[in-house]
Amino acid sequence: MNIEYVKSVIRNVPDFPKPGIQFKDITTALKDPKALSFMIDHLYEYYKDKGITKVAGIESRGFIIGPALAARLGAGFVMIRKPGKLPADTIQKSYALEYGEDTIEMHKDAIGENDVVLVHDDLLATGGTALAALELVQEVGAKSVLVNFLIELAFLDGTARLSSAEDVYAMIKY
Ligand code: 5GP
Repeated sequence: MNIEYVKSVIRNVPDFPKPGIQFKDITTALKDPKALSFMIDHLYEYYKDKGITKVAGIESRGFIIGPALAARLGAGFVMIRKPGKLPADTIQKSYALEYGEDTIEMHKDAIGENDVVLVHDDLLATGGTALAALELVQEVGAKSVLVNFLIELAFLDGTARLSSAEDVYAMIKY
């Protein structure tokens, strides 16, 4: 079992959600028991000695591996959500999309100044979503912030926008 195997069970869906986009579909890796446990084991090995106290998952595909990894690391799990879903006081961040704008939010009390936070999502494309999440976690005063993806579309160079993170790691690169 290795990363190449996981890569082989990620499905490429042409023209989704729009013509010209090659969508990386992780559902085919998640339903594969060997790939699912490998992904969690592999990320645990990478992060186990980094002092992570909270994993912050980005809605919604960051809510799948994120909590499982947090539990393995002995860390807590925090939700970074689309607007209007979280019930208590939130802090928000808006970011530009190709057309228009999007917003994410997090509970103000989700993270404290002693937290070493791992922001997690399934895929890094332009980096807009992850940068907004990174800034949100930095603004509430986390001690340090690392960023993780299952997949990085390396040709888009999204990591360049995440240079204020302590570390950026993607398991699979295209
Ligand atoms: P970015 O903000 O980096 O341009 O886009 C990343 C966000 O869009 C992530 O939240 C990710 O879930 C989603 N996304 C964009 N393209 C894909 C794709 O091909 N596959 C998957 N699974 N998610 C994608």
